[in-house]
Amino acid sequence: SPTIVWLRRDLRLADQAAFVAAAAAGPVIPVYVLDDETPKHRRMGAASRWWLHYSLASLDADLRKRGSRLILRRGRCETVLADLARETGAATVHCLRHYEPWWRNAERAVGEVLDLQRHHGNYLAPPGSITTGSGGPYKIYTPFWRALEARMPPAAPQPAPQSLPAPAAWPASDNLADWNLLPTTPDWAGGMRDEWTPGEAGAADRLAAFLPRARVYSERRNLPSVSGTSRLSPHLHFGEVSPAALWHAAAERGGSVGTFLGELGWRDYAQNVILQMPDYAGKPAREAFEEFPWRDDPVGLKAWQQGCTGYPIVDAGMRELWATGWMHNRVRMIAASFLIKHLLIDWREGERWFWDTLVDADYGSNAVNWQWSAGTGVDSNMFVRIMAPLTQSPKFDAAGYIRQWVPELAHLDDTRIHDPDVRPRAYPPRIVGHAEARARALAAYGEWNDRG
Ligand code: FAD
Repeated sequence: SPTIVWLRRDLRLADQAAFVAAAAAGPVIPVYVLDDETPKHRRMGAASRWWLHYSLASLDADLRKRGSRLILRRGRCETVLADLARETGAATVHCLRHYEPWWRNAERAVGEVLDLQRHHGNYLAPPGSITTGSGGPYKIYTPFWRALEARMPPAAPQPAPQSLPAPAAWPASDNLADWNLLPTTPDWAGGMRDEWTPGEAGAADRLAAFLPRARVYSERRNLPSVSGTSRLSPHLHFGEVSPAALWHAAAERGGSVGTFLGELGWRDYAQNVILQMPDYAGKPAREAFEEFPWRDDPVGLKAWQQGCTGYPIVDAGMRELWATGWMHNRVRMIAASFLIKHLLIDWREGERWFWDTLVDADYGSNAVNWQWSAGTGVDSNMFVRIMAPLTQSPKFDAAGYIRQWVPELAHLDDTRIHDPDVRPRAYPPRIVGHAEARARALAAYGEWNDRG
């Protein structure tokens, strides 16, 4: 009888343990279930759905080259998989493990109705397996990373199979176009089409382009005007490249790739956090922050979302995000700090906006980084450390970046572009002054702290 491979954020053929195990047992039926019910309010955001469409198309094409194909079904995963098993006579389902709280519930539900075999493969080490001397989970990144690094390298990655055994007959599949994952009108995805090639081949191209630059990563990663980072985050999120493959490819380069590997460690760390605190995107880890006097400011929120705050580096970042579904990490930190501290808006508003607009929107990584920026997390920057956007911008040499994303300022020279003294009429005035915003944030923090 055939075996089902249940795909989610692991849309690849290379180093994919579920395919290896299923193919060893006989005919394989690869299936992707579009399940908008199980995640409830955490259904995939719009930018992620755009990515998913192309990633599924790419995987189907890769499977067809190997005598196989991708079956698409829609609905609650345990119901859909049970139906598919009944139709095809499949006895076993293989999948990679995922750690978002809704996927953990779904794996439990599928395991109750079918023989579900779960494999490791989307993280450097299985989340939950890196523990302290006393056997508990780590809360803080640095000791977590030290313990994880001591377990490295990960097992050597397995190549993609040359062919996959097909079942005697293929079950029915939905038509990808009918899932309406792409925007219609307005079509906001033009910038994304220009920037990205979702799928395993696109991931391999990004990796090949990055590897020669891996040695200078630590010097360039904070400079938004240059291509200093890998831009692999959406490919990693959708599992189009395995972190083990990435580790080996980077480590083989030699030189100072440690900083880059440490960033991959943050990705594992975020899963370690949501495994301990599944509601990390909804609840501050430092619970007293539930009482923090966040401002209700829909006008400010909208200005931030649209890149119209009057702070060039913040606006450049927010516009890059809107256009391409991605933002440079340094600028994510500045933009997040601005929302939380300059505007005093609840970090959860920012988390939600990123969830909908990032092509790499990831439940664990997004929540961990937002709580870090807010100072509400287990391992956090302190709330009172307020990033000054007008200082950060020249410090990280963001002139070229601003010129690219804020055309109203493109004519200004490198010294004036970060903080224009004379503002072009087309560019919005500052939504709040820096000194005033800083004083307001510190006062709110002080009052809240005194009450606690
Ligand atoms: P590189 O610098 O090339 O790093 C390689 C890989 O390491 C990345 O692709 C990513 O998978 C991982 N990584 C790097 N930095 C981090 C980090 N701080 N936390 C977790 N993983 C990391 N990253 C996401 O993948 N999804 C998110 O939803 C997300 N939300 C964020 C929200 C905020 C407020 C901030 C400050 C950061 C967020 N990040 C998120 C982390 C980081 O900004 C991106 O992973 C990074 O910018 C991706 O670019 P890159 O692939 O070029 O990274």
